[in-house]
Amino acid sequence: AVFWGDIALDEEDLRMFQIDRTIDLTQRAHTHSLHRQGHTSGGLEEHEALKKRGSLYLLLERIRRFGLDFLPKNTTKVAASPKSQTGKLGKTGSVIKSRFTRAATSRAERIWPGGVIPYVIGGNFTGTQRAMFKQAMRHWEKQTCVTFIEKTDEESYIVFTYRPCGCCSYVGRRGNGPQAISIGKNCDKFGIVVHELGHVIGFWHEHTRPDRDDHVTIIRDNIQPGQEYNFLKMEPGEVNSLGEPYDFDSIMHYARNTFSRRGMFLDTILPSRDENGVRPAIGQRTRLSKGDIAQARKLYRCPACGETLQDSTGNFSSPGYPNGYPSYTHCVWRISVTPGEKIILNFTTMDLYKSSLCWYDYIEVRDGYWRKAPLLGRFCGDKVPDVLISTDSRMWIEFRSSSNWVGKGFAAIYEAICGGEITKDSGQIQSPNYPDDYRPSKECVWRIAVSEGYNVGLSFQAFEIERHDSCAYDYLEVRDGPLETSPLIGRFCGYDKPEDVRSTSHTLWMKFVSDGTVNKAGFAANFFKEEDECAKPDNGGCEQRCVNTLGSFKCACDPGYELAPDKKSCEAACGGLLSKLNGTISTPGWPKEYPPNKNCVWQVVAPAQYRISMQFEAFELEGNEVCKYDYVEVRSGLSSDSKLHGKYCGTEVPEVITSQYNNMRIEFKSDNTVSKKGFKAHFFSDKDECSKDNGGCQHECINTVGSYVCQCRHGFVLHENKHDCKEAAECEHKIHSPTGTLSSPNWPDKYPSRKECTWDITATPGHRVKITFNEFEIEQHQECAYDHLEAFDGDGDQAAILGRLCGSKIPEQLISTGNKMYLRFISDASVQRKGFQATHSTECGGRLKAEIRQKNLYSHSQFGDNNYPGHTECEWLLSAEQGYGIELSFITFEVEEEADCGYDYIELYNGYEPNSHRLGRFCGSGPREGIYSPGSVMLIRFHSDDTISKKGFHLRYQSAKFQESLHTRK
Ligand SMILES: [Zn+2]
Repeated sequence: AVFWGDIALDEEDLRMFQIDRTIDLTQRAHTHSLHRQGHTSGGLEEHEALKKRGSLYLLLERIRRFGLDFLPKNTTKVAASPKSQTGKLGKTGSVIKSRFTRAATSRAERIWPGGVIPYVIGGNFTGTQRAMFKQAMRHWEKQTCVTFIEKTDEESYIVFTYRPCGCCSYVGRRGNGPQAISIGKNCDKFGIVVHELGHVIGFWHEHTRPDRDDHVTIIRDNIQPGQEYNFLKMEPGEVNSLGEPYDFDSIMHYARNTFSRRGMFLDTILPSRDENGVRPAIGQRTRLSKGDIAQARKLYRCPACGETLQDSTGNFSSPGYPNGYPSYTHCVWRISVTPGEKIILNFTTMDLYKSSLCWYDYIEVRDGYWRKAPLLGRFCGDKVPDVLISTDSRMWIEFRSSSNWVGKGFAAIYEAICGGEITKDSGQIQSPNYPDDYRPSKECVWRIAVSEGYNVGLSFQAFEIERHDSCAYDYLEVRDGPLETSPLIGRFCGYDKPEDVRSTSHTLWMKFVSDGTVNKAGFAANFFKEEDECAKPDNGGCEQRCVNTLGSFKCACDPGYELAPDKKSCEAACGGLLSKLNGTISTPGWPKEYPPNKNCVWQVVAPAQYRISMQFEAFELEGNEVCKYDYVEVRSGLSSDSKLHGKYCGTEVPEVITSQYNNMRIEFKSDNTVSKKGFKAHFFSDKDECSKDNGGCQHECINTVGSYVCQCRHGFVLHENKHDCKEAAECEHKIHSPTGTLSSPNWPDKYPSRKECTWDITATPGHRVKITFNEFEIEQHQECAYDHLEAFDGDGDQAAILGRLCGSKIPEQLISTGNKMYLRFISDASVQRKGFQATHSTECGGRLKAEIRQKNLYSHSQFGDNNYPGHTECEWLLSAEQGYGIELSFITFEVEEEADCGYDYIELYNGYEPNSHRLGRFCGSGPREGIYSPGSVMLIRFHSDDTISKKGFHLRYQSAKFQESLHTRK
């Protein structure tokens, strides 16, 4: 839309003005070009010469041209500055009237037929705002003959809503569906809503009347640049103010400082009339002015006689009563009480000219808001009619006379009664006088009955009843049944909306009571027939539980289950936050197949200092190796980007996984195909005593399940207190670590006399022990007969000797042929030296004997703790007894994957050397099955480059006869 102030102009507005201009051009082309020049150069200064037709076109052309540019600016302004919003509103006498005289086809579209304006209040408004809109509409109804009704099946209607313009509206009825009346947050004031409704009814702003220059002065210099167009006026042919004088007091008039250039302080529009320094006030937003009322009544041709009665009691009578009514009189009285109330109409006097069918003078009473409502009675003569009762909150009474008869006329009183029997499937109930304060000493009882077989649902829109702890003063009581003695559902008061109510039968009983003091806005509630879908034989289609809600229902599941995507069936639940120290988790449905498209996340949390271990008992998931379909991921931490321990699928049971800290995340995902049995796993949390103060250990602390142990470095033994370390009296060392240092006793001080120390070193199978001496100083002797260090190529002094060392020259490295080495240091009674200090490490490769018994071989010495190192070149020569072949089986194989195994790989040869018959080169996940070498010698080469490294491999080798081997491989 294009906006002119707070007025939204639609395509039709613009098109219509365009037509006007075409007419003008054909008739007064010359004048027009003048106008245009005047406007483009002179902006707003409208001189007498330019007051003719065409100025409106120029105005609208300006709006058309700049409207979309103005729009954002306008929007911001409206939202940010409610006061200026208030200020820029005003009324122009009816342009509509004149438009209609010219464009007859538009007449029916712009005036609301019969003055009836259907409305809808959008869903986002609060109860207070809704109440205020209704008050504003009732204000118009009270003063004029327009009627606002809740929209039912009407085609054209207004919608209270919130649009970016803040407060804005179209002028008159647009037709063809809903039209917005936007009420923004900063303009949700009674007077502004009344003003916007003025546009809806058909008013432009008062200060744009063509004769406005006789009454106000526009002070152009004070107007914000870019907003000048808001002060343009309409030209005389377009506007018909219906003979009403210029109305300073109009609710449709701008205020003095609207669109003021500097804040709010400068006058932009100033009344010319000045009586002793007092100018009339403009821009009020309190109520309709007398002028507004007079003009609206003319626009909608309201009968001169009659009125709208909105009080809960009242009376009215024929004009001149009791001294006779004039001939050719037409009066309409509209009684409108609070929705939910009924009207009791009681004629007290009846004295009209009597005619057949009451043809001449008569009173008609209709049960509704307009002349088309059902007729309750047509009366004349002198018989006082029976009491008339409306079915709803509105009544229409029309009086016409055409005789010259002289009689008293009639007089009637009415009273609104609240409560009553309501037999409908839906409707609204409000406290009397809602949204205005309810009256004192009221008591209303409603009995609602919907169709048999249904329940009554009751949902509150607004609730405000004098507060008291036990609702002793004013209250609303709701009972489950048709009677005052039916079971009590609740007695409500205060300012919180009660929860939705549902009866157990098709009736509901409600009573509203107010005492003599303190009145509030009351309540508004909708009732409707409510069905218990869960009571049907199919349980609402729910597999397990059905939960009925007002107007609907939902399915739910038993503990341990959760709602499937179809929202009706239930499937085994999974995942969750686990804070027990140990427990079991399994895939949903275990031990049956897990469901497709499932995503389960278990978060295991243990106390600080604890570590969580996950041990899979059974494991069967779709897929292998890549795990891109179904898989389980185990992480240290609780989030999905915590440290990943592994992603698993297939059928190989993962090894035990222990968390880094005190929490662990296990996520299971299944895709929409192939389901397997899933997994079952135990988790247990163990306190890592070592994580705090090293467990109190002097040297090393080793955590164990349920406990911990301290260990001492080489050369030391554990003290009796199990925490401290003392120097080892015995000097026997067993070494399993891949690397470390060893030294003579007392190092770096002199070694003691008569001492014997041994080091029994074991490396990972497939790796050799290497000793590198860093310092060496032992009593010198030709054959090392006195103090010396001996090295043996095996696990004791029976093994082949590698060397007997003494003196002060640093010896060469010592390397074992197998994975064990044994060292022995002996000092005699005399001459002590500093001794030695050496590093032990491992070297891959070597000669290995294949026997009937299976032996292990690992790719690297820290297999299991670390990935294999880069730049590795290892050669293992396996030899079996003559006549036997060698069989390899791979327990683990994870080597960097590449199509040609060009990076990291293992190569196998049948024979001593690389140019022998090659059995294969492998990488990735390795050979599918075992490898058999028919010869008695096999060479294994392992190569890694300097990038990506993986877990490595673990293989077993043994000697095997060709036949046997064939057999075992089926
Ligand atoms: Zn306005």
